[in-house]
Amino acid sequence: MGTNSNKIFLARIFVIAALGVAAWAMVCKTGVDNTDEAGIVLHLPEQVGVWQGMDLLFCPNRDCGGQYFSAQLEDPTVCPRCGGRLGNMNWAERSMLPADTGMARKFYVRGDGRDPVHATIVLSGDDRSSIHRPQVCMTAAGHEIVSERIIRIPLATREQPLEVMVMDMSRSVTGEDGAPAVNTIYYAYWFVGKNRETASHLVRMAYMAYDRVRFGVSHRWAYIALSGGRDPRNDDHLQMIADFASRLHPALLAPN
Ligand SMILES: [Zn+2]
Repeated sequence: MGTNSNKIFLARIFVIAALGVAAWAMVCKTGVDNTDEAGIVLHLPEQVGVWQGMDLLFCPNRDCGGQYFSAQLEDPTVCPRCGGRLGNMNWAERSMLPADTGMARKFYVRGDGRDPVHATIVLSGDDRSSIHRPQVCMTAAGHEIVSERIIRIPLATREQPLEVMVMDMSRSVTGEDGAPAVNTIYYAYWFVGKNRETASHLVRMAYMAYDRVRFGVSHRWAYIALSGGRDPRNDDHLQMIADFASRLHPALLAPN
């Protein structure tokens, strides 16, 4: 595992070039086909290494805001508080994402209670705008990005490591006793398209532009995100993310 900021710089140059090509393509080429092909399955496994997954459910009613673990409920389709129809997107996601956006979500816990992980997969629908640059959403939600780097995670299943963008974030909150406190979390993600994988939003945009121009297709891209708490005094969460992601990755591969 190591960091790599040069790559981000190179990606930017690549993107500037690709966007130039895309602008030309808008003028000269019409008829881009959306395909249903995705690079992964929209399903999170029950178990990832020593972590056990639990389904999270949300009430669509903004005023209710109910959140539940599926296992808590007798009827996991109905909100026990207001009768709303439960789903795996929270209110904000439901209102912001196009209706055909796919989502899988689980909260993973270990027997010893350490390092719980919240995992989501967002799969773009026909309208490809489901996937935004995560940094924009995070800062809008009041998080400050303390650091941002790509880590390279060795995989048992292939030679090339998995690259994951890890953002360390902090957010000012009010503690249980009413005193101001700081919540420190990490947010880690990567993107997967048909035969494509990258941790960089800009590289993803460039791949999309290239696939449109070169092949006249627009694939469904997926966005895989992991989040949880981190100790602000060290980088131990990087190893934890590597342990989790290296076990999750093979379970997400689409059958050929
Ligand atoms: Zn409700």
